[in-house]
Amino acid sequence: MATQNDLPIAVIGAGPVGLAAAVHLMSRGLPVKLYEAGNGVAASLRDWGHVRVFTPWRYCVDQAAGRLLESQGWRMPDAEAFPTADELVTHYLEPLASLPELAPAIETNARVVAISRWGADKVRGSERGTRPFMLVVETANGTRRDSARAVIDASGTWRTPNPLGAGGIAAQGEAEFADRIAYGIPDILGRDRALYAGRTTLVAGSGHSAANALLDLARLANVAPGTALLWAMRGTDLVRIYGGGDADQLPARGELGADVRDLAESGRVRLATGFATVAIREHDGRLIVEGQSEEGLLQLGPIDRIIAATGQRPDLSLTRELRLDLDPWLESVKALGPLIDPNEHSCGDVPPHGHRELSHPEPGFFTVGIKSYGRAPTFLLLTGYEQVRSVAAAIAGDMAAADAVQLVLPETGVCTVPAGRASQGCCGGPAPVEVDACCVADVDAKAAGKSGCGCASKMEAAE
Ligand SMILES: Cc1cc2nc3c(=O)[nH]c(=O)nc-3n(C[C@H](O)[C@H](O)[C@H](O)COP(=O)(O)OP(=O)(O)OC[C@H]3O[C@@H](n4cnc5c(N)ncnc54)[C@H](O)[C@@H]3O)c2cc1C
Repeated sequence: MATQNDLPIAVIGAGPVGLAAAVHLMSRGLPVKLYEAGNGVAASLRDWGHVRVFTPWRYCVDQAAGRLLESQGWRMPDAEAFPTADELVTHYLEPLASLPELAPAIETNARVVAISRWGADKVRGSERGTRPFMLVVETANGTRRDSARAVIDASGTWRTPNPLGAGGIAAQGEAEFADRIAYGIPDILGRDRALYAGRTTLVAGSGHSAANALLDLARLANVAPGTALLWAMRGTDLVRIYGGGDADQLPARGELGADVRDLAESGRVRLATGFATVAIREHDGRLIVEGQSEEGLLQLGPIDRIIAATGQRPDLSLTRELRLDLDPWLESVKALGPLIDPNEHSCGDVPPHGHRELSHPEPGFFTVGIKSYGRAPTFLLLTGYEQVRSVAAAIAGDMAAADAVQLVLPETGVCTVPAGRASQGCCGGPAPVEVDACCVADVDAKAAGKSGCGCASKMEAAE
């Protein structure tokens, strides 16, 4: 068997964060093997390729990847423009993956289905760190076992959507009517148009994916008679759902929330808040969705289709034989859990973090990218790029660079502190009165009789 140092660092997933990880590792002279399950890089982004992201180009490109591309003649599109996911793939990720430095290291149609240590299951502790990792890789030519010195899991969460069932497991009837349920954000105005035109669709969920789907359905309803929409969500706090509007430091994200608020207030969409989906039934060939609400059991419908914009969760099956330390409810890396828990934090901020927070009791294994957030919804690419810069430096042994983590994220402009927790800041820091967090501005704004977070007024005041 090869010695550890001859072996590559395995990166699982050639999404934006996995590709950036490969660049950072290579720039430190480390050998890399990048596995991608799809038949091209960034397979998950292609799935929601029609969606325009709310971060401009300058927030979408990893700095080291951008430098490498620029050294070979690439120019970033207008830094202030907002690409669709398809444009991110075509104008950034595909050119990056095609560079002669990266291309030989990338294997597409290669799905990692299990990771362990050669000769040691999870229970065996002896010399664990000296045993190479073993990756079980499914390819078109069969399954093989590869070795790696370290593993960076950047496999995302896109392929494992949360079910409609409010209890986290599929609602009764969810599997039976799967052919009428789309998870994520279907291309309502493009390739999936015929499925939604002239039909009634229920959108379940309250995040940005639900907002995108609702706005597309409303656009379709303008031109396709008979198109109708319903919106169901578990939450009841509409301020949080509609976002920070003008106070959002990412204006496009603020606009998305404001547009969906306008749509809901226009009366064109029937809104069911506090709705916990229990079952889906068929009646006269159409669907009825049943859920618990404050008024008891409520029935929504009849409808033709459902869009489950209920978020994603990490696939933990491939790391079953590794010693992981995960947050018990978010399934994020443990150290990040308290900092990103959506029950506690809404302002979009997360303290700078790197290899230490992203590591596990399993030496040499790191979870990065949106998977590091587990079920939490607020991940931004900027976070992932700084994560992999730090992890690559740590693997290379440059601990000074690995520990020098820097991250300033645009805040959402929504800052909610749960009842009874006034002594704690929503941004994961100490009490609002003691820190310069957006919670301070929130408290100030509310004391002055204003609604919302007040982050914007804080910024203006500072200028
Ligand atoms: C609709 C939507 C809009 C978003 N908008 C923004 C935005 O505006 N700005 C922003 O900063 N962030 C945004 N995000 C959040 C986040 O930046 C993206 O989800 C981003 O794609 C995360 O990158 P990633 O590399 O961690 O994961 P992914 O992009 O999901 O990449 C994971 C890759 O791993 C591959 N893979 C999965 N399993 C395996 C396996 N077992 N073996 C091998 N390969 C595997 C997948 O095929 C995929 O290519 C958005 C997310 C969504 C869903």
